[in-house]
Amino acid sequence: MKNLVTGLRTEEYEKNFAELHPPFTPGAAITEANRCLYCYDSPCMKACPTHIDISTFIKKISTKNLLGSARTIFESNWVPLTCAKACPVAVLCEGACVFNDKGEKPIEIGRLQRFAIDNYFSQNMLPLFHKASPNGKSVGIIGSGPAGLACGAELSLLGFDVTIYESNKIPGGLNTWGIAPYKLRREDSLKEVELVKSFGVKIETGVLVGTTVTIDDLLKKHSALFLGVGLGESPQLSVQGEELEGVIGALEFIEKVKSEKWHEVPVGKRVAVIGAGNTSIDAATEAKRLGAEEVYIIYRRSDVEMSAYRFEYDLAKKDGIVFYFLTSPKQVVGNSFVEGLECLKMKLEEPDSRGRRKPVSIPGSEFIIPVDMVIKAIGQDTKSAFLNSIPGLTLDNEGCVIVNTESYQTNNPKIFAGGDCINGGKEVVNAAYDGKRAAHGINKFLFPMSEGEN
Ligand SMILES: Cc1cc2nc3c(=O)[nH]c(=O)nc-3n(C[C@H](O)[C@H](O)[C@H](O)COP(=O)(O)OP(=O)(O)OC[C@H]3O[C@@H](n4cnc5c(N)ncnc54)[C@H](O)[C@@H]3O)c2cc1C
Repeated sequence: MKNLVTGLRTEEYEKNFAELHPPFTPGAAITEANRCLYCYDSPCMKACPTHIDISTFIKKISTKNLLGSARTIFESNWVPLTCAKACPVAVLCEGACVFNDKGEKPIEIGRLQRFAIDNYFSQNMLPLFHKASPNGKSVGIIGSGPAGLACGAELSLLGFDVTIYESNKIPGGLNTWGIAPYKLRREDSLKEVELVKSFGVKIETGVLVGTTVTIDDLLKKHSALFLGVGLGESPQLSVQGEELEGVIGALEFIEKVKSEKWHEVPVGKRVAVIGAGNTSIDAATEAKRLGAEEVYIIYRRSDVEMSAYRFEYDLAKKDGIVFYFLTSPKQVVGNSFVEGLECLKMKLEEPDSRGRRKPVSIPGSEFIIPVDMVIKAIGQDTKSAFLNSIPGLTLDNEGCVIVNTESYQTNNPKIFAGGDCINGGKEVVNAAYDGKRAAHGINKFLFPMSEGEN
């Protein structure tokens, strides 16, 4: 598809994609750290899926022990810069801060975490971690997203010889290729990749496991495998006109925004984004920030049922995104390229036994929204074809890998898994936790007597 917007000036792109949450100055960080009440029961720590000892790392910031603060954070999470910038803190740590109950602003935990980790990376990654001597076992990891990186870092420090196999040319998974640039730049993600490599983890890029090498090859080569392959593409809309030029999957579009020069990313003047999850909001706001004049989100249910976080919804409204609720696409209109999206108005039925209200179309309610680009953002398929080809793996009805919730071991004892491929798509912080826990599951499997759990 051609770029249909008049290119913006470089400084306009920079302004549009500027960080949503700029860094603290040292003085502001210490003032904010001193606001923390260091609660005896740390609700913030409980709300963090990786259970970072938040009050301790904040206390260390207040005493200017920034490397100590970074160390406390890394003890729980190997991708803490990404999490500091991209975690939905409003529903996790900051959402649990006791200041919310007092009607006051919660401690800005994400920005404080970023402050400590930015400082660490600015010190050329001083060695803070003890690495055990080699234990003679090797582990292969498939996928270099946060799950794979966290598993690799932890295993390497436990003395394993670790190789990550990554199909992409640049590692980091969605941290590198998916998260909106106004939250996280690619350089941030690559700093975390470098940290993991500094522990001795090897990353082989451009290796599509299942094609370039087989799972059998890797099972022969390694004592155990970890699957951190994430999810696949957006599913088809299955409407007429879907093949027209100008219809694109959300991930493909977002990947272009992360990897190409902004003035080269093809975007329409009037863009319809189908779906109302967090990825839809990202695609919509990114299209708007690239210069699209009108961006619409089309969703067949109402704002009550949409899965996007409230703060993401607010961001989209602030960016001027127009929401068409109770609206479903019927067909994409055009000759060889998109000229419009024909939609139907919907209504919601009474709640079913699960409390879900099924949307049904209103006959004769068709109308056309003139657009020249359609972005499909109705979720992501699992990599079920690849996963089904792996001997002994069991998938649930959604196509996610079933694992033991303690060890992260699959039904094939030599294969462990974590991240989006087991949970169907959560957050970076969940993938980071899974990867770390799975490393201990692998250690326990290969050295049953040794596991002093972390
Ligand atoms: C558009 C978008 C925006 C998001 N924004 C946020 C956000 O702001 N905050 C947040 O917390 N979460 C966000 N998420 C969710 C978050 O990115 C994921 O939960 C997280 O990245 C999952 O980590 P993972 O390691 O399981 O998988 P991924 O990050 O998807 O990494 C999987 C890796 O495996 C590789 N791979 C797959 N198959 C193979 C194979 N056969 N051989 C070799 N390599 C393979 C892939 O190339 C990829 O690098 C977002 C997700 C999307 C889609």
